[in-house]
Amino acid sequence: MRRLSAVFVSLLICGSAIANDPPSKSIKTSSKEEASDKEESKSSKSSKSSKEKEAKAAEAARQKESLAADELAVKIADRLAVLRKEKEEAAKPRPVVRSYAPAVKRPEQAKPKAQLDAHAANAAALGAAGAHSAIHWSYEGEGGPLSWGKLNPANAKCDSGQRQSPIDIREGIRVDLDPLTFDYKPSRFTVTDNGHTIQVNLGAGNFINVSGRNYELLQFHFHKPSEERINGRGFEMVVHLVHKDGDGRLAVVAVLIERGKAQALVQTVWNNLPLEKNEAVLALSAMDLNQILPTKRDYYTYMGSLTTPPCSEGVLWLVMKEPIEVSPEQLAIFSRLYPMNARPIQKTAGRLIKESN
Ligand SMILES: [Zn+2]
Repeated sequence: MRRLSAVFVSLLICGSAIANDPPSKSIKTSSKEEASDKEESKSSKSSKSSKEKEAKAAEAARQKESLAADELAVKIADRLAVLRKEKEEAAKPRPVVRSYAPAVKRPEQAKPKAQLDAHAANAAALGAAGAHSAIHWSYEGEGGPLSWGKLNPANAKCDSGQRQSPIDIREGIRVDLDPLTFDYKPSRFTVTDNGHTIQVNLGAGNFINVSGRNYELLQFHFHKPSEERINGRGFEMVVHLVHKDGDGRLAVVAVLIERGKAQALVQTVWNNLPLEKNEAVLALSAMDLNQILPTKRDYYTYMGSLTTPPCSEGVLWLVMKEPIEVSPEQLAIFSRLYPMNARPIQKTAGRLIKESN
């Protein structure tokens, strides 16, 4: 069918090309003839009859019409060629990649700025994660951590980065670290299940200060089990509090979670779990984030990356030494949603780790 219409169109094109040629010559001919007519009428008054003149005028008009028809045929042929090309383009089997890309892209792009998580913020900056693969990133299977770097050129750091997170924190240099101060206050919040974790987005006004620099809290989210290890030891879960300073630099505070007593703030989050993915639930109450911090403020610090695609580096990690506790019931609730959402340990590659004395 396509071949037939192609032949038809090429015939039309060729035909009109051929048809187009002679008329332009015939115009010249006809104008020559008109000119010679004048000559003739000048030189011999009696020679040509008016009938002959009429016939010639009719012939010229016919040729003009034929020229107009040819031009139309060319236009139609051109249009047909364009349509055929468009149809062929549409029919081409595209790399799976592109046809699925918008669906993957949309939810992250649609989020208001305040709701962007650290991954999405960076993804947006880098041209949206998942734009080049039908497979979206995940923690196992085809989209698992070993594939992240290949799913999208924007995720290249996941493969090639030398300062990736999480790491097994060991052999830290014990020093008197600058105190890490928290300026958190009761805040309104939304809870979102973004398909990778449960994330809590907060209103403005919550800050940490470290080494004289202020970072504002954007969101926090959970991983199970903990992504980071301390001297080889993993924990039941971890909460990552993602902050950003005025220059766009990220600082993530990690609070490790052990099995133990129920935790009030975690319960508040669970109470507001959304029924649907990617739909933020605005909680009616405010939360006091100080509740999720351990009593002691000693910490480990090193330079790393986001632990999710695009794995952007230059992230200041502040891992609290003292874990908090949540109850077995609270662990089980998260486990039903995300039994495993932790990136494997990455190479330390000679990075300096410092820890509070
Ligand atoms: Zn995280």
